[in-house]
Amino acid sequence: MEFKKNQIVELYIDDIGNEGEGIGHIDGYALFLKDAVIGDKVRAKIIKTKKNYGFARVEEVIEASKDRVSPRCSKARQCGGCTLQHLAYEKQLEYKFNKVKNCLERIGGLENIEEKMEPILGMEEPFYYRNKAQFPVGYDKEGNLITGFYAGRTHHIIDCTHCMIQHPVNEQILLKVLDYMKKNNITAYDEKTHKGLVRHIVTRVGFKTGEIMVCLVVNGSKKNLRNLEMLVDSLTEVEGMTSICVNINKEKTNRILGSKIEEVYGKPYIYDYIGNVKYQIGPLSFFQVNPTQTKVLYEKAMEYADLKGEETVWDLYCGIGTISLFLAQKAKKVYGVEIVKEAIDDARLNAKMNGFDNAEFFVGKAEEVLPREYEKNGVYADTIVVDPPRKGCDSKLLETMVKMAPKRIVYVSCDPATLARDLKVLSEQGYEVEKVCAVDQFSHSSHVETVVRLKRK
Ligand code: SAH
Repeated sequence: MEFKKNQIVELYIDDIGNEGEGIGHIDGYALFLKDAVIGDKVRAKIIKTKKNYGFARVEEVIEASKDRVSPRCSKARQCGGCTLQHLAYEKQLEYKFNKVKNCLERIGGLENIEEKMEPILGMEEPFYYRNKAQFPVGYDKEGNLITGFYAGRTHHIIDCTHCMIQHPVNEQILLKVLDYMKKNNITAYDEKTHKGLVRHIVTRVGFKTGEIMVCLVVNGSKKNLRNLEMLVDSLTEVEGMTSICVNINKEKTNRILGSKIEEVYGKPYIYDYIGNVKYQIGPLSFFQVNPTQTKVLYEKAMEYADLKGEETVWDLYCGIGTISLFLAQKAKKVYGVEIVKEAIDDARLNAKMNGFDNAEFFVGKAEEVLPREYEKNGVYADTIVVDPPRKGCDSKLLETMVKMAPKRIVYVSCDPATLARDLKVLSEQGYEVEKVCAVDQFSHSSHVETVVRLKRK
């Protein structure tokens, strides 16, 4: 059967794809549909066709799957943020568990891996969990000032001040900023013309400390924000308001933040905790966005590291030292390596602030620093922890890790496919996967975090 663009078809959804989308088949031809759930029968419009598969848009759910729920957020379908809100939360968890299992089996070649997998650790309340938000500011079709989120794959702004996965205080903040902008004729930035002032409203909330930071990203400077004291007076009515600042970004770029900060009110940072470790967070600092599940993830990593107090540990891709400092509570010595210098500045500051004198940090690529330190200085590790970005570990790094022959490796991963690829290498070089645990850090998205414990055979 030939399929054409705009053709209407009826089909049954029988599978789920890599990004959580539904997959249905007609005479062996696969169609991928956003917002469709396994078990749904839908009427759909074909939007794109390729030789062996195509994409379609759900026009109507004819018979809803028993796994389908109505999203709590009325903007869920348009918004590019949550892609799985229409899927019951326990089914989201099941999907993520299976995604990890399938990658480890198919890409990693790890047989009977399910026996080594612990149940996925999900959230008790998978809403309002994020501590960082970046809301673009712009205009709707009628020219009204709005803020919210980008629609999927575009920069079209969806008006949404009540996001179901952000901390609830954001709504108050957004309404206050919009009100200030309207009253003072402050313009929103327009990407097309590179004109206008306010680009994004960035907020960060310390879940344990209650401290709040608001940072306006502007195509200009704070001088251009007329009657700024009016905004400060209004924002400081919000309980916990600790830091207000302006970030300057005059570039024609998709990057949200520029490199320069101007202080407006309070300190230029807030504090928060993961477990007992305190972290200082500035507008430019990287910090895990789901503090509740980060604690769960790091506790699992700690359990897998099984430290007794005498170990030397290397934490590669350490960011601001979040895992390093967790490990430093129980290890003799922790070395962290990270490519971003500012993150290492934060890591050193956080180590000092928490009184850890057993953590040392290196700026550089993990695949350069570790081989250098091993070959020149003969450094040693009882345990190596890695937490790489999505592309996984560099092969030169894996090679050095194998040469260093630590008893244990703990691999924290945000991409099960590259995790599986790297585990295959480690399994062929003398390491055995002992335990695997998936953790849901990003509820309602298709992302899944995984911790793996390996031991030297
Ligand atoms: N473990 C940290 C951060 C993990 S995110 C935490 O939990 O907070 C991955 C980190 O790897 C990022 O901070 C990124 O800047 C860093 N990174 C990316 N490529 C790198 C490389 N080649 N060498 C070292 N660090 C790298």
